[in-house]
Amino acid sequence: MPETLRHRVLAGCRVLAPLGTRTLTGLVLKTHTDPPRGQAREILRLLDEEPALDDELLQLGKWIAEFYCAPLGETLRAMTPLAGEIRRGKVYSLTKTGRDVARQLHLGSDVDNDPAATALRMLDARPLSASYLKQKIQKAAAVLKSLEKKGFVVTEDVAAERDPLRASAARLRIEFVGRAEKLPKAERELLSYLELHPGSHNVADLEPFVAKASTAARALARRELVRLTIEAMAEVHGPIRTPHALNPHQQAAFDCIRAALDRKQYHTFLLQGVTGSGKTEVYLKAIEAALALGRSALMLVPEIGLTPAVAGQFYQRFPGRVAILHSAFQDTERAQEWRRIRSGEAAVVVATRSGVFAPVSNLGLIIVDEEHDQSYKQQETPRYHGRDVAVMRALHAKAVVVLGSATPSLESRFNSESGKYSLLELPQRIERRPMPDVQLIDMRTEFLETRKHATFSRALIDAVTARLENGEQSMLLLNRRGFSSFVACRACGERVECTNCSVTLTFHRRDRRMLCHYCNYSERVPERCPKCDSEYIQFMGLGSERVEAELNGAFPKARIARLDRDAINGKRDYETILAGFRDRDYDILVGTQMIAKGHDIPNVTLVGIVSADIGLGLPDFRAAERTFQLLTQAGGRAGRGETPGIVLIQTINPDHYAIQCAAAQDYQAFYQKEIQFRRALSYPPFTALANVVVQGRNEEEALGRSAALGRLLQPAPEGVRVMGPAAAALARIKNEYRFQMLLKAATRKRLNQILGDLRRFAAAEKWSATALVIDVDPMTLL
Ligand code: ADP
Ligand code: ZN
Ligand code: ZN
Repeated sequence: MPETLRHRVLAGCRVLAPLGTRTLTGLVLKTHTDPPRGQAREILRLLDEEPALDDELLQLGKWIAEFYCAPLGETLRAMTPLAGEIRRGKVYSLTKTGRDVARQLHLGSDVDNDPAATALRMLDARPLSASYLKQKIQKAAAVLKSLEKKGFVVTEDVAAERDPLRASAARLRIEFVGRAEKLPKAERELLSYLELHPGSHNVADLEPFVAKASTAARALARRELVRLTIEAMAEVHGPIRTPHALNPHQQAAFDCIRAALDRKQYHTFLLQGVTGSGKTEVYLKAIEAALALGRSALMLVPEIGLTPAVAGQFYQRFPGRVAILHSAFQDTERAQEWRRIRSGEAAVVVATRSGVFAPVSNLGLIIVDEEHDQSYKQQETPRYHGRDVAVMRALHAKAVVVLGSATPSLESRFNSESGKYSLLELPQRIERRPMPDVQLIDMRTEFLETRKHATFSRALIDAVTARLENGEQSMLLLNRRGFSSFVACRACGERVECTNCSVTLTFHRRDRRMLCHYCNYSERVPERCPKCDSEYIQFMGLGSERVEAELNGAFPKARIARLDRDAINGKRDYETILAGFRDRDYDILVGTQMIAKGHDIPNVTLVGIVSADIGLGLPDFRAAERTFQLLTQAGGRAGRGETPGIVLIQTINPDHYAIQCAAAQDYQAFYQKEIQFRRALSYPPFTALANVVVQGRNEEEALGRSAALGRLLQPAPEGVRVMGPAAAALARIKNEYRFQMLLKAATRKRLNQILGDLRRFAAAEKWSATALVIDVDPMTLL
């Protein structure tokens, strides 16, 4: 490293360093002037002018690595969104013609086997890197080359992305600067157009009006006659909303938050407001208050909750000051927003889980909306919980935290009962709109009375019919995608399982294939039973795709849309479908839990839960909590406008407390029941829990490893209860055999010590990196 660089290397900067024969990116943890003990090698290059992680975030990273038992390197990497920036390589995106062709393909018939068509469809969702496309498409290089020749795709160099002259026209904004004589025709025309239409324009949008606009724009920029800038993410605006005057409940909650902000000390509030009680308005006012104190605000939303409607509200309220961080964005887009945040230009950050690491300085407020949502827990190393990290970050930053939900997690509610958090309540819907009227439909009685295994009860059919007649909208939820959840032989009972995982394959009718929801393995539906050769192959169990098909049969005239992971292709489709539903292009929206979250669509007056029982029987201590939350949230989508709404819940477990309490919309009753169960069985929040999974390439290896860990914890160490090891509920995933152990510890500290012992043991035995998976505070035990 050149001597001149030395004083610029700061803790938190990324550097390129040699390791063995390789060159790797690393992060500087500490700088010092002590001579190295061993033999040291020179750093090759400094990648950041300023630290990628400031001191506060470095400390937070260390805490996460410790608390969640994750390697520090992987943790810090997960915290910096800039990794993609230095990765060199090409990114492909569609031209306008390419987009038109892709749109035709979406409408057209089956072209699944054509790699060029697949590429166009994938690129229609968003630009993709060459390396990614290579994994997904056969003969990718040749296919892309030919698409490029036809003028359907263009490539960009990732490293050059920030140079406006090399960015694609669709992402460029252009503005008039000055006149000049003797320009070529195209440039002259473009310049006149810009002079006549002041303000900044998207270059691609000009193409219909000005020939060769994109080439001319670049030429003019070189002559400095126009200014080119790369657009930040498209600022999509939802319906215009004027700020509301707070009602008394909102005002009372806001007053407490503002008082805490004024004190400039750490404090966490749990804002528990029933669905439709106006939590968002309280968040917005709290953010205003933080900004007025010269501090910035960070709002976390669930993965699926960050729609343009949500973003739009923030853009409107805080113009020019909002940055959005979403996992669906490209690396470059994220890096750009990240820089705006660090520079202080954006003092309001709205983000999904990993946005909790946004480089916000002078942080005053963190809001975690729908704090109970599972998507806050990262399901790969480091397996952190975004909400809990937010609380820890606020503690260090002396910031205020607002956790909002209609159905708080047991942990958060418990913390507010014990005084660790303060409870703020919004017990009523806005303008005293009634809570929806919820009815349970016992599908066992339905069967006895009709003698038919129908998907929809008579009551649900009647309710949908009435909505169609009145021009009102319905949402139907079934929390399982696919058509049939399994395929079985009627003669011998054989179920078709994944070759890599111990789960049944789900039939997806659109692709006419059976798919594994864990590893994506797929195969064709067999004509005959692979075991007994009978031809009685049967499709069993219900998925959202089938609900849609059956609805189409029952209501041939209704306009029906479906929203689940199969129906959407990137985030754009998700937004298009939702926006279409909001604009009343559809009468019925069918979907998985995706439709249950946060949406505020006034014309929905019926929510039908096709089966409340999915998930209830899972061997997981959170099964009841999750069912209660899902049903309550889904029910909360009904009757948010002027017309009251009803909710119909079909179930074969009408007496289960989770379903009973959801029907009564009674959080308090549910909490009381559930907390007793957690206490009796020593589950969180009464213990610190870790799920330890041991994996191996074959059963003996996995068994041997888990037995060794089991012996290590025999007899159980002081202050810890060990359950297992036993075969995991999913005994095999992606060809890894799995055994499971559950540790319940009286204290965090104890839990951490034991987990540390396990990790050291695995390291000493030279287990592979995937052999030991530790999940602290697991959201699911599956
Ligand atoms: P929640 O998130 O609690 O379910 P929302 O924040 O979506 O509820 O608010 C529900 C609706 O009430 C929104 O359309 C919002 O604009 C409106 N709203 C919020 N506060 C007020 C208020 N004080 N007066 C009138 N309408 C309000
Ligand atoms: Zn058979
Ligand atoms: Zn599988």
